[in-house]
Amino acid sequence: MSRLDSFIRRMQAQRDLLNATPALIEGLGGPILELGLGNGRTYDHLRCLFPDREIFVFERHLAAHPDCVPAAPYLIEGDIRETLPRALERLPAPAALVHNDIGTGDAAANAEIAAWLSNTLPSVVRKAGVIVSDQALAHARLSPLPVPAALPADRYFLYRRL
Ligand code: SAM
Repeated sequence: MSRLDSFIRRMQAQRDLLNATPALIEGLGGPILELGLGNGRTYDHLRCLFPDREIFVFERHLAAHPDCVPAAPYLIEGDIRETLPRALERLPAPAALVHNDIGTGDAAANAEIAAWLSNTLPSVVRKAGVIVSDQALAHARLSPLPVPAALPADRYFLYRRL
């Protein structure tokens, strides 16, 4: 498979999983968290999926498309290892949905941040809340949910907070 094929499959998996989230969190109050604004593509998609929800975005270096920069109260700048543990001071409630998209091509760095997020996210996400993640997470309070069968294995991950 070419790198272009691989990239397209990853983006399709990401979009398919995000499209599944409105049904997964139906009836659950709480904001949405986007970890990693990047260009703003998935933030923009979340805005379309959830026009009535508050979406808080965590990003270390703002470099998004100008149309995709959240308003000041919803953009939490800095390293998530600093900002996420204090997020509940700014959020109106624990999150109903988290989309984690901060992985890079550095496997060791990804493993380190995934381990940190595994331990941190359960205290930021409400009970029965959902996490969509570009990296596998592991914690006793995170129950893996099956991803749609059409998606490539180990490309994207889905969890429900117990
Ligand atoms: N979701 C984005 C989109 O659709 O355009 C792409 C996100 S990009 C793959 C990852 C982003 O995560 C980068 O903008 C990077 O600056 C941010 N990031 C990576 N590690 C971070 C950290 N520890 N704290 C905050 N932001 C981080």
